[in-house]
Amino acid sequence: MTAIGGASERQASTHLCRAASRNPSSDDRAVIRPFPVPTDEERAFWTGGADGVLLIYRCATCGRWFHPPGPVCPACHSLEVAPRPVSGRATVWAVTVNHQQWFASLPPPYVVAIVELAEQPGLRMLTNVVGCEPEVVRSGMVVDVAFELLADDLWLPVFRPKVSRP
Ligand SMILES: [Zn+2]
Repeated sequence: MTAIGGASERQASTHLCRAASRNPSSDDRAVIRPFPVPTDEERAFWTGGADGVLLIYRCATCGRWFHPPGPVCPACHSLEVAPRPVSGRATVWAVTVNHQQWFASLPPPYVVAIVELAEQPGLRMLTNVVGCEPEVVRSGMVVDVAFELLADDLWLPVFRPKVSRP
């Protein structure tokens, strides 16, 4: 992931899925991703997809959005923070294509990207861009959130190229 570094990488990596023990057996050929074990603060992020909503933490005191989620506003240290729905619109900020088979059930190639959400400059998250050939994804591409069911009530927010409508 040569295009990604520094503080952004540390922030984004918080939401890499942790491999879980309930992966399917080798007989299951379906593409099934590893899924996370959310903390209390992370739960809204991983379950909002059930309602088709991306939930990102926002500070009620200073109005700042922040991600990854946490109990304290990183800008003003207020405790008045809670997950709120965002538009789901974003721009690809950095992108790489993974060609390594890291998980038996998740065949490459696939796009790993950092996207910047429309709500606030610098509000970025690590994700996958799906619904197109990996090679066409570029920085600056406008994308919309979509959700993939991981397991139980956990949904993975991914992004698709925005479809322009006449
Ligand atoms: Zn704040």
